[in-house]
Amino acid sequence: MRPLLPRLTATLALALAFAAPLAAQEGGPTTEAGREALTILREAIEVPTVAGRGQVPALAAALTARLVAAGFAPADVAFVPVGETGYLTARYPGRDRAAAPIVVLAHMDVVEARPEDWERDPFAAIVEDGYVFGRGALDNKGDLAMVTAAMIDLKREGWVPGRDVVLLLTGDEETQMATTAAAAQALRGAGLVLNADSGGGELAPDGTPFAYTVQAGEKTYADFRLTLTDPGGHSSRPGATNAIAAMSAALTAIAQHRFPPQLSPLTKAFWEGTAAQAEPELAAAMRAFAADPGDAAAAEALSARREYVGLVRTTCVPTMVKGGHAPNALPQSVTANVNCRIFPGTSRAEVQAVLTELVANPAIAIAFQDNGTLESLESPLQPEIMAAIRTAVEERAPGLAIVPGMSAGATDSMHFRALGIPALGVSAAFLKPEDDFAHGLNERLPLATIDPGVRQWKTMLRAIAQ
Ligand SMILES: [Zn+2]
Repeated sequence: MRPLLPRLTATLALALAFAAPLAAQEGGPTTEAGREALTILREAIEVPTVAGRGQVPALAAALTARLVAAGFAPADVAFVPVGETGYLTARYPGRDRAAAPIVVLAHMDVVEARPEDWERDPFAAIVEDGYVFGRGALDNKGDLAMVTAAMIDLKREGWVPGRDVVLLLTGDEETQMATTAAAAQALRGAGLVLNADSGGGELAPDGTPFAYTVQAGEKTYADFRLTLTDPGGHSSRPGATNAIAAMSAALTAIAQHRFPPQLSPLTKAFWEGTAAQAEPELAAAMRAFAADPGDAAAAEALSARREYVGLVRTTCVPTMVKGGHAPNALPQSVTANVNCRIFPGTSRAEVQAVLTELVANPAIAIAFQDNGTLESLESPLQPEIMAAIRTAVEERAPGLAIVPGMSAGATDSMHFRALGIPALGVSAAFLKPEDDFAHGLNERLPLATIDPGVRQWKTMLRAIAQ
């Protein structure tokens, strides 16, 4: 049995540490809702909601307790288990119960973190140097905490939305998105999704706000496996065919191919919005491309930059290859993976048809590899919704450029867009480029973003669900 006194002392020390006013931290939240967001964030980081550890239900239970304590009816807060994880919904009833609800979306799960690689314990929620450090601080527990605190604060203030607002916290965004798929089906009558897991504010190195991105589309992800088999034989007696040489020719053709440049309402808005801040030569290329995607020189200038190449067109690149079995044998089989990022509105079947044409070899089989991702659709930029977002962003950064954007990776929004429900990424975190450690080591959220972030969520919800 362990001695009682040291344990008590340790508990007391811990209690005192937590009782120390966090507002005293430089840049820490000073509003009640902001302090609650910080408390929620720290609690959330300390529950290691990594796939396979079965901790999502524990985090959901803690959040449920807070929501119910704040006045959400117990019957309106529900956790739906899906395997070892699950999703949480908290329904905030509006005046018109029949109107299509607004879904506010964040995810509870995080990617793995190896403590030995981090400078601080990734699951200890350490507040230091103006940041909260820990796995998920940014992706996505920071915004989860800010939006949950915002909804709690609105509830306490007695606000009644015009229509139902549903807080949806998924439990496997980083892996299977099975909770997202199930929740999207359950909420398929929703009118709009506000996703806390993409978009957000960008700060210049000196900390002044630079731009705000609203994520309204994602490229479609697709892997294709190319397979070629051959009778093979002794390498001293080469025949007419060689599987490695044939596959190399096919992969070279794919690597050299340029899909046609494309422009959508979303990317047009992106190029025009970004041109306003870009250096003159680049800005000219952006404006020219936005006016005419057939402008080859403009498409070339934008494609030459890694940050923009993905927004110009569909891209396909060979990413893996495996072939041959001995140094002195003709190869009997070669397989390769081609990874495509497809412009929204183009189907995977259309891209596969192009690959078949490029390969120009009926002996090479091309098979789509289904990893559960869906074909992506762009969400329309509805003027009244964009105006509401502007109102909320301008409270913290008057006159800030608001730029709609498309991302190369998939978020939970994919499952809603596939059902025809518009989804916009509107994170309330404002970050410097050097603060973006999502999925990486020493992930952190600036304390200074919490108070204005909670306020941004409150104002946006009031404006959109009025
Ligand atoms: Zn995320």
